Amino acid sequence: MLTREEMEKLKAKLNRESVNVCFNRGTEAPFTGKYWDNHEKGVYSCIVCGTSLFSSDTKFESGTGWPSFFQPISKDIIKEDSDRSFGMVRTEVSCGNCGVHLGHVFDDGPGPTGLRYCLNSAALDFKKA
Ligand code: FE
Repeated sequence: MLTREEMEKLKAKLNRESVNVCFNRGTEAPFTGKYWDNHEKGVYSCIVCGTSLFSSDTKFESGTGWPSFFQPISKDIIKEDSDRSFGMVRTEVSCGNCGVHLGHVFDDGPGPTGLRYCLNSAALDFKKA
């Protein structure tokens, strides 16, 4: 976990879109982010704290316009909470280390997990393998 002061410093380095997604639980417009159509091999980390969260090996074509994965690198490095905003019941996905919003997880994904982690590019930083 990071202190409030550390979080403020990291937040100050982000652009507006990333602040809106990560700190205001916003959602970027589909097909606009950096990574929905990224096919390179590598690791996606939290844009705020740098924790490695998702591998390109688990990324798939969801057709939604958001980067989509069937599982995180480990279940412990993300946090999942019920989200009842906008009249829907969804499961919010946050960074397990610093707590910022990443996206949502749905149960209509492909094998082997059947899950679809629908993330915002603006919450992620990609490092090519
Ligand atoms: Fe983080």
